[in-house]
Amino acid sequence: MLELLLAHLRDKSAERVAARRALAEQELAAELGRLDRYFESILKEQTDPEAVGTVTALAERRRTEEIRRSQVKAVVHPLQLIEADVLIQRAEWRLESAPPRRHHATFSAQRPLGSAGAAPWSMACPQCGRPPALLVICRHDHCACEACSHRCSVCAEDFCADHGIAQCRVDAQAACDEHVRVCPSCRLEHCTAHEGLCTEGDGHPACSACLAPCGNCGRVVCNRHAEQSHAAAPKGSRRLCAACLKYCEGGTKEPVGVDEVAQCASCGKSVCTAHQAVCAVDGQAHCAPHLRRTDKSQRLVCARHRAGCAHEPGALFAVDEVGTCPICARGACESHRAACEHCGRRVCTADLSVESRRCATCAQLAAVSDLPQAVVAAALAATGSGPKPSRRWRMARDRSHLVVELDLGWRQTAVVTLRRGDNVPDGVVKHSPLRLKRRK
Ligand SMILES: [Zn+2]
Ligand SMILES: [Zn+2]
Ligand SMILES: [Zn+2]
Ligand SMILES: [Zn+2]
Ligand SMILES: [Zn+2]
Ligand SMILES: [Zn+2]
Ligand SMILES: [Zn+2]
Ligand SMILES: [Zn+2]
Repeated sequence: MLELLLAHLRDKSAERVAARRALAEQELAAELGRLDRYFESILKEQTDPEAVGTVTALAERRRTEEIRRSQVKAVVHPLQLIEADVLIQRAEWRLESAPPRRHHATFSAQRPLGSAGAAPWSMACPQCGRPPALLVICRHDHCACEACSHRCSVCAEDFCADHGIAQCRVDAQAACDEHVRVCPSCRLEHCTAHEGLCTEGDGHPACSACLAPCGNCGRVVCNRHAEQSHAAAPKGSRRLCAACLKYCEGGTKEPVGVDEVAQCASCGKSVCTAHQAVCAVDGQAHCAPHLRRTDKSQRLVCARHRAGCAHEPGALFAVDEVGTCPICARGACESHRAACEHCGRRVCTADLSVESRRCATCAQLAAVSDLPQAVVAAALAATGSGPKPSRRWRMARDRSHLVVELDLGWRQTAVVTLRRGDNVPDGVVKHSPLRLKRRK
């Protein structure tokens, strides 16, 4: 009859224990899942191997802690169930921590009182349920066993697992809840002794492991507010604060330092020194794709400073390598221009006679007698002659000049080129059979 009753009780409690165990396992699985997701999201943000190691170790520790806690719960409950109908003696102690710590806690224990006398006291840590070798009073006035307690590395107060952290993310030392902070950059917990200030915006605290100076301005910023410049950047990969970070618009929009970029003189965009080149004419930095190499001199020129020679279609020149022919007004390079031996102007080879070495305008000089007074005055002033009228005047005109030839007497002539419109002299060449011709 007794055996039957016991067997029934055992069956009944086994069922309940199994149910509780199943519930505990379910809760454990949910908690582990939450932990895994949390650390996974943090791991994703870590780039250097050291940080990945720190976070992985932290995740492993939290998992072990959680598994241990849930195991304990499964062991305690069957004991209570089996002893449910036994007379129990319960005792309570008031504990006080030694000065200078002034914290209090109550600890209770119980023992069954059977016909054979009192059984040993059953003592359990209120945190983990294991028999405590030592009791530690938490700064929040309750106690826990040594394994469930820590001493804060900042204030040296004792605390239980619920009121602080076992390890600061920086030095792995314990910190009580008053001295624990969560870093907004790495989202891990650290103690107040390892807290610093990120200077971005109005500033915010962060753990010291996440803080480092900007590689350009030296301002201390957290990992979340810093960006690494590209390895191919002119000064290599550097940690940069938001103010010192630029994107090279002349390259692949790669992050580079503000000290590595210039404004393109062609398009106005920021371009790093690796993706820019200097125009040989304006001396300014441009995005490399805006520049072309000239065909003969191989100089780099931007779109604004390119020119062509009318006698070499397709060949690329810099604007300072090409001159405008005063007769046809077309551009010609140095090798397609030459000076007229009569008027001294540099004209294009198409407008210069090979035999006479004279330009097309000088070949058309014709005698005139009714020159405008302004032209006569300008020509005389240019040659330095007196106001006496010259014996013989010849003249021709082209797109840019009025070419005037005047007889200076003693078989000397002067050729004056006056700019069309304002009669300003552009050049004077004196010809004499005795002396070499001279250009002024
Ligand atoms: Zn506590
Ligand atoms: Zn941090
Ligand atoms: Zn710390
Ligand atoms: Zn920051
Ligand atoms: Zn670039
Ligand atoms: Zn550009
Ligand atoms: Zn020409
Ligand atoms: Zn000429």
